[in-house]
Amino acid sequence: MEKLVIIGNGPAGSTAAIYAARAGLKPVVFAGSLPGGLLTQTGDVENFPGFPDGVNGFDLVMDMQFQAEKFGALYEYEEITSLQLSATGPHKLMVSDGRMIETDALIIASGATPRKLDVPGEERLFGNGVSACATCDGAFYKDVPVAVAGGGDSAMEEALFLTRFASEVHLIHRRDELRASLIMAERAKNHPKIKFHLNCLITEIIGDQKVSGVRILDRAFDKESVLPCSAIFTALGHVPCSKIFKDAGVETDVSGFIVVKPNTTLTNIPGVFAAGDCADSRYRQAIIAAGMGAKAAMDAEKYLADANK
Ligand code: NDP
Repeated sequence: MEKLVIIGNGPAGSTAAIYAARAGLKPVVFAGSLPGGLLTQTGDVENFPGFPDGVNGFDLVMDMQFQAEKFGALYEYEEITSLQLSATGPHKLMVSDGRMIETDALIIASGATPRKLDVPGEERLFGNGVSACATCDGAFYKDVPVAVAGGGDSAMEEALFLTRFASEVHLIHRRDELRASLIMAERAKNHPKIKFHLNCLITEIIGDQKVSGVRILDRAFDKESVLPCSAIFTALGHVPCSKIFKDAGVETDVSGFIVVKPNTTLTNIPGVFAAGDCADSRYRQAIIAAGMGAKAAMDAEKYLADANK
């Protein structure tokens, strides 16, 4: 029987583990399907306080893990596949290696994954011109045309970033209205290298070994055409990794983000807490996730003390 299990070892999960371990709770952390979370897929992180010269995303999450382990947190590299949560506890967790674990408290820090287009070619050419991260891969596409899919702030940001390298940036959005904030949209619209294709659906990503273009359907004219480009960057928002928790009775919002009581990390189930991108539709920043992780550990510690567990 464990006192506290943490699911996810990105900045939220590992910060929760540091706080909980220092409080003597001996947390067990399950790393999940993408150990270290999304931060491991970025290059240098320049906005995490305390690193004036930036820090590699992978190094940052590993250092968080080492820090938690130093205080007694135990990391496991299996996945939790399903859960039985109970208002009075303990909570039962099924592990991918067949074990069943019981815990008095649970912190969900399972993160989010980039949303996909779900069109032919996307999966096959991922890493060969299809990318969900301009910061990571943009520099590979110097003086060639690239495309960005999406109409939100991330799409504008990615498109603007890509203008540093690409010869032209085609921004393809499925509606004729952008979701992005006015200031970001204006910045992108005013950039001479960015060309907008509004009301256009991407129906296929084309290429043999690597991307050579995208097939788009102009919905206004019901006309299909091929737009040549060497890369397509998807910026379609993120999908929280919350399905197994929702299936176990944890409340989520319409987009699947775990609902926490305002200013806390408490979910609708006593003894179950949520932190980081799985519970944050708005900010999705490593520093915010870390802060939420600290809050979740403190909330869990108080819950366990109040319940004499
Ligand atoms: P958003 O959810 O805001 O936007 C996602 C975009 O992708 C939408 O335009 C959506 O279209 C489109 N989309 C979703 N699914 C598909 C699909 N299957 N096919 C085609 N298009 C699709 O996500 P963002 O990541 O852009 O932003 C998330 C949050 O982060 C926001 O609150 C944003 O303001 C914030 N942010 C702020 C920044 C800043 O201030 N500098 C920078 C980046 C993000 P549709 O509009 O039709 O739904």
